[in-house]
Amino acid sequence: MENQVTVFDHPLIQHKLTFMRDKNTGSKLFRELVSEVSMLMCYEATRDLPLKEVEIDTPMASTTSKVIAGRKLAFVPILRAGCGMLDAMLSMVPAAKVGHIGLYRDEITHQPVEYYKKLPSDISERDVFVLDPMLATGGSAVDAITIIKQSKPRSIKFLCILAAPEGIRALTSAHPDVQVYCAAKDEGLDKNCYILPGLGDAGDRIFGTK
Ligand code: URA
Repeated sequence: MENQVTVFDHPLIQHKLTFMRDKNTGSKLFRELVSEVSMLMCYEATRDLPLKEVEIDTPMASTTSKVIAGRKLAFVPILRAGCGMLDAMLSMVPAAKVGHIGLYRDEITHQPVEYYKKLPSDISERDVFVLDPMLATGGSAVDAITIIKQSKPRSIKFLCILAAPEGIRALTSAHPDVQVYCAAKDEGLDKNCYILPGLGDAGDRIFGTK
């Protein structure tokens, strides 16, 4: 399980995360920080993309140089907080396609109910990055990945900003083939399944709905 989780301890990410956690940070700055952290995480999480050599002419000489070797990516934010990470990811990889997944838990059966799903039609040729800033119980992440797997993508990575140990356990045991990336592992969950110390409700803080 340890190898399945990468914590980005880069000083820039840690610095920005501190301001995201601060309850006095308003929505505008919070949104900007989510974007900046997501951009830095995208940079790290795409580190293993294969490269190939191509021949080009610079203004000075002919040479060979590297480009990404034809791997196609798809970004799939889990509604709604995952959308806060999307523009930053697209600014790094503009050719990626985008899917969306919306889920809620039925209060009586506790089963996940999918209320929205739209995935790229060629997702079976793509490496998928699932986006959700908070991995709390892991319920939505596990369910979203199960749904995406039905379309047989080439691979799946899960990017979150904060992860609780409970969510990491749930996700890595349900999907041992999915690499998880986060900016920090927090202490645990409170009785309402919020991450502690956390940063509160990420969706509310991104969209100013509190
Ligand atoms: N979702 C959030 O937005 N915050 C948490 O702490 C847990 C889940």
